[in-house]
Amino acid sequence: MFVGHYGVAFAAKTERNKIPLWVLFIGVQFLDYIWATLVLLGVEKLRVIKGFTAGSMLDSYYHPYSHSLIAAILWSTAAAISYRPLCRLLGYAYKRSTALIAGVAVFSHWLLDFIAHPRDLAIYDNTWKVGLGLWNYRGLEFGLEIALLAAGIILYLARNVMPAIRQKAVIVFGIALVVVQIGDTYVPRTPLTDKGTAVGVWIFYTLFVLIAFLLEKIGRRRQTDVS
Ligand SMILES: [Zn+2]
Repeated sequence: MFVGHYGVAFAAKTERNKIPLWVLFIGVQFLDYIWATLVLLGVEKLRVIKGFTAGSMLDSYYHPYSHSLIAAILWSTAAAISYRPLCRLLGYAYKRSTALIAGVAVFSHWLLDFIAHPRDLAIYDNTWKVGLGLWNYRGLEFGLEIALLAAGIILYLARNVMPAIRQKAVIVFGIALVVVQIGDTYVPRTPLTDKGTAVGVWIFYTLFVLIAFLLEKIGRRRQTDVS
């Protein structure tokens, strides 16, 4: 699962909870940030094999600390607990319910990976592996990614007050994410190394976080002038 995760981030942000979109963008991919870091450190293991599944080249045969169910629950809990100090540090509004939303956003990653991944998600440590394997059906998996993203963006636009220029920018960003997903799913390429893949994850995910941050700045001054 790739851009589908961002559908959850868009859907989670409302005018009431005021969780910054960029924070949710980190949240929904938090487990992959841990994973990419641990792959770079040689702790978690990954093989990149052309045609491993129809929709993905990733054979994540050892990722107990980032992607086991128990680890996902622990990381989600840690995210919910650390959300308050994070808000204080960054000067963002905090409510107890927002900490819960942040935790659920982190956990949503595991649920969506569970749908897409072939049986490589351990319940705990590296045993009892599960995964519905939608990646074996390329068109279906791609359709789910796009449906999740589109639904998230529609909810985001409906539940947040913003100037028209930002609405347009959100839609353009959504289209760009669809293009990225088309490239990832359908454009043939030579597999990167395991470490190269992890670096790519860091670069692309962080680029999207940065765009999400800038997106919520667009037309901000005009908006405050009006109110
Ligand atoms: Zn993942």
